[in-house]
Amino acid sequence: MAKSIFLCAISNIASGSCHEDCGFCTQSVRWRADIERYKAKPIETIVAEARAARSAGAVGFCLVTAGKGVNERTLAFVCEAARAVQAEELGLKLIACNGTASREQLREMKAAGINAYNHNLETSESFYPKICTTHGWRERYETCENVNSEGLDLLCGGIFGLGESGADREDFLQAVKSLQPKTVPLNFFITNPALPLQQPVMASDEALFWVRRAREVLGDKPRIMLAGGKEQAFGDRLMEGLEAGANSLVVGNYLTTTGMDSRALHDRLKNAGYAVADTSECKGEK
Ligand code: SF4
Repeated sequence: MAKSIFLCAISNIASGSCHEDCGFCTQSVRWRADIERYKAKPIETIVAEARAARSAGAVGFCLVTAGKGVNERTLAFVCEAARAVQAEELGLKLIACNGTASREQLREMKAAGINAYNHNLETSESFYPKICTTHGWRERYETCENVNSEGLDLLCGGIFGLGESGADREDFLQAVKSLQPKTVPLNFFITNPALPLQQPVMASDEALFWVRRAREVLGDKPRIMLAGGKEQAFGDRLMEGLEAGANSLVVGNYLTTTGMDSRALHDRLKNAGYAVADTSECKGEK
């Protein structure tokens, strides 16, 4: 039987106005990157994007807001968007990605129809202060623990290629493993001229090595999702990333950059002998 690949789409529902100083992120207002910024995407647009995501084969749909964490306004907006998407009965697993979150906030999201929460550790604890000084790695870890405590599925991964060492990557993978996430999104850093962090795009051999290593460290259970930067880092070797151990891909656009056309992605998967997972394959999940 062909290996199933789980596709996940992202909706940037509040974009580009964060006051944190993450050196890899164009959504920090500090770097004045040339990106689209808006406070709240209209609910009908979010619902239309959810429908389009399902048509593009996505089984997961992620509601992302820029900012360090959830405040009252974000919470109300995410819950409103979740209820509106769930009312469509598309069968999508709804993921929220809104930064630091308390157990109470996560409980409220769950009640509104959110199935999973994405909070990335980004990198190792010791390298983190080199990429962000306005909040700490521990805080990130604690939000992931809150997600587990509230019984939401956890998505937790990070970014390779920020200037971290191999030892940092090993530490990062061990930390991710300790949280037992359902899905591990792996991003590959692509810089922007406005960012303080400038690093070359990771070579495909190196990217493949770290996907293989992630699978070794994390074991068979979690989904490994190739996310931001996969087009640039893997180029025409993306299918090798699936052979190396990934079994999930972001379909469509990212937060502030354009992704691969979904039809082209389906063609590549089919030609390589992969099946696209259906929503029925997520049954039994939260
Ligand atoms: S907290 Fe999130 S949105 Fe804000 S700068 Fe950091 S990565 Fe970007």
